[in-house]
Amino acid sequence: MLIFDEKKYAIDLLKNKEFNTYRKRDIERYILIRYLASEGLSSQEIRKEIDKFPLVGCEYLDKKEVDIIYNKILEKALSQLLVTGVVVNIYKSEIDIINSIENEEARNLLFVLLVYYKWAVEQSNTNMYFFSRYNNTKMVLVNDLDMWKNAGLMKLRKAERYKVNNILINKGLYVEDNFKSNNYFYLPFSVDSGDIAFSVSNFDNILGELLYYNDPDSYKRCQECGMVIKKTRSPKKYCTKCAKIVKNRQNKEYYNLGKTKSNKTVEK
Ligand SMILES: [Zn+2]
Repeated sequence: MLIFDEKKYAIDLLKNKEFNTYRKRDIERYILIRYLASEGLSSQEIRKEIDKFPLVGCEYLDKKEVDIIYNKILEKALSQLLVTGVVVNIYKSEIDIINSIENEEARNLLFVLLVYYKWAVEQSNTNMYFFSRYNNTKMVLVNDLDMWKNAGLMKLRKAERYKVNNILINKGLYVEDNFKSNNYFYLPFSVDSGDIAFSVSNFDNILGELLYYNDPDSYKRCQECGMVIKKTRSPKKYCTKCAKIVKNRQNKEYYNLGKTKSNKTVEK
């Protein structure tokens, strides 16, 4: 599970009052704990919050046993820093190379790989990469599926998706290495200096950042969260998620306004 902004993810969990997944709920719980701790909550306060997300399998344990389990969870969660606020700079020289690829899918995949690579090397969680002396650079742990999803390649069959990867490998733009049965990669064209084309700080639509840069007439940003959205005939200002939040907020304001008005009437 690839989560680019744990703070954002945790806020959503608290809002929805349930985990997004069943199989990865342990990871979601760690994220929640890290976020609550970063907000300055004490261990007891954190416990109170995460008790709202039931720990499956603890129904038959006594309180003391459950406490021990919770303390272990807390310790594990806080052994890593909260991942949030990463800003990735994309340089013009990198965009030129990406845009020079004829195959659209390969172009999109390479851009997503670049953003992910630059994000990953900033992490304090060192399980995500290792320094390769052979390549003289950091090699980052990669899950093909995550990259394909973010690059919009899931519409292709699996063999086709690997062909897209191979285009990049054959061009020498993507170098992969297998280490302890995990895949690691680096991008020889990735740089840390030069003219910045743009920066990525919202990772909800990574591919959108490239499309927006290349074709600003067809895309715009959500006015609430900054995510790239496609321009349509309707003059919508927000992404689907924010449209709901903004509507709720407006309803609430409208309701509160009505309440103060009626209070005044009562006072009279
Ligand atoms: Zn939005």
